[in-house]
Amino acid sequence: MCGITGYVGSRPAVETAIRNLKRLEYRGYDSAGVAYPAPAGVRIVKAAGKIAQLEASVQDQPMEAQVAIAHTRWATHGSPSQANAHPHPDCRGDLAVVHNGIIENYAELRARLRAAGHQFQSETDTEALAHLIEERLPEGEPTPQIFLEAVRQALREVRGSYAIAVISRFLGNAVVVARKDSPLVIGLGEAENFLASDIPAVMAYTRRVLILEDGDCALIEPDRVTISGLDGRLRTRNALHVDWDDQAAEKGGFPHFMLKEIYEEPRTVRDTLRGRLLADDRVTLPDVGFTAEQWARIRRVSIVACGTAYHAGLVGKRLLEQLLHRPVEAAVASEFRYSDPLVDPETLTLLISQSGETADTLAAMREAKRRGSPTLAIVNVVGSTLAREADAVLYTQAGPEIGVASTKAYLAQLTALTLLALYLAQNAGMPEEDRRRYVAALRALPEQIEACLSLSERIEAISAELAAMSCFFYLGRGYDYATAHEAALKLKEISYIHAEAYAAGEMKHGPLALIEPEVAVIGLCTQPATHEKMVSNLQEVKARQGTVLALLREDVPAPDTADYLIRIPATLDALSPILAMVPLQLLAYYVARQRGCPIDQPRNLAKSVTVE
Ligand code: GLU
Repeated sequence: MCGITGYVGSRPAVETAIRNLKRLEYRGYDSAGVAYPAPAGVRIVKAAGKIAQLEASVQDQPMEAQVAIAHTRWATHGSPSQANAHPHPDCRGDLAVVHNGIIENYAELRARLRAAGHQFQSETDTEALAHLIEERLPEGEPTPQIFLEAVRQALREVRGSYAIAVISRFLGNAVVVARKDSPLVIGLGEAENFLASDIPAVMAYTRRVLILEDGDCALIEPDRVTISGLDGRLRTRNALHVDWDDQAAEKGGFPHFMLKEIYEEPRTVRDTLRGRLLADDRVTLPDVGFTAEQWARIRRVSIVACGTAYHAGLVGKRLLEQLLHRPVEAAVASEFRYSDPLVDPETLTLLISQSGETADTLAAMREAKRRGSPTLAIVNVVGSTLAREADAVLYTQAGPEIGVASTKAYLAQLTALTLLALYLAQNAGMPEEDRRRYVAALRALPEQIEACLSLSERIEAISAELAAMSCFFYLGRGYDYATAHEAALKLKEISYIHAEAYAAGEMKHGPLALIEPEVAVIGLCTQPATHEKMVSNLQEVKARQGTVLALLREDVPAPDTADYLIRIPATLDALSPILAMVPLQLLAYYVARQRGCPIDQPRNLAKSVTVE
């Protein structure tokens, strides 16, 4: 999510770390900071906003340091502000920490450390790490090895994901780093070393990199890197040579941000679930900010959003209705706001937006509030207008999304909606056995998404044959009909081919007249209850010479009419939209690529739609 860089060696360390940080600005950009050793401890300089602000702030600082760590933040806990910017110091200013990821048990740690007298200066989850290391340091002047052991001990108490870099007056010209579920690489130089959360940030200086694995810690000195596990045992990692060009590097070696972001989906779903599923399979949403009374007052739900987020809302509507047995509305924001909406103090208005700046969704939220409805925003960007103005927020943890056509943020929205539906159902007395089935299925999703990603080559081959089609229909029933809307939108956005979502049973009421061989029909067949009906609908298409691609769960029989088949892992009906969308995003991507379209920046579209 965010970007970390660091340097040890004889170059000006602060300047080098900040220069490299700029290569990561696409990963997070709400604030930035740098730390380097000072005579009596560490010196930290931070600034809200982009890295250029930080550069301006360090300009008048003495910068002889030969070690530095720097960070550009994508806030997950605590608003984007100077106080919350990293690095974070301990109470005595002996050390400074930068972190990428989420500390799940930060609230517990913070409470314990506070009770022990530690003073916190920020709202972040990260700061707990600085105090935890401080707590583990023995009195006196620990050696670098003892300092490293204190970091290891601190990390053994942490649940969650992290890539961290720590400097300290006890480390001299060295940096300690560690990783779990967040990337971290070390760039190897001659009598100098670099660290970064991503390869592009070291490529200006070296092409030799060590990629740390989960559970690795390292002591980075100018002339050596020592890697060990949290148990203190030494580990070896082989250096790789990176021959990417500059452009490919920024995209992690992928040709487009969109593809990179699709490949980040397992992690996105994992991060969105993080800290929200308890060991006993109950759902907890402690960060949402409604009181027990506010939750209890909710009788109805009205979902409001635009574009992809609205399509997530269509899935959410079915899911909430299925789990709560109550009618749920889903409306596009531009219609809702001018429709004299029927919301009241007992209706939860649920607003969904990746950026949290979508103009129509903001206006809809204000309208709902005016009518006394409690508002809950499902948002990706911490501190965005929607997040600030809504009564409560449920953050998706997709990290920055750069491709204009949303991919990973959509999966994060579906995951967040499932958590919310389960939470409300759990409060309304959902049978424990049912809840456990859902939670087990949620926990299985990241690996199942990996399995969907492994279909990539096959989908690319199919796309080569479908790229010349004049029109696409996406047909489905139930949850699949909701997925069809998002799949059609994805194709339209990036390939410029006309695509339409249709309820499969409606085809014979008109659109069947359009079917001919140049029309591709994507049949979504993930719902066992309507499987046979879907198969008949695809037969009707085939009888008119349409080209049929069937997307099936692995546990249902294949229709013999399909020209192409894609199979996805089996899951609960309500979670199939999450898995089904992965191959459909890949299909849109590869079709657009076949057609030579500018995938990350489609014509006429913008990432964040801040106008009506
Ligand atoms: N969870 C940390 C924060 O909110 C780190 C976020 C990041 O990865 O930038 O400050």
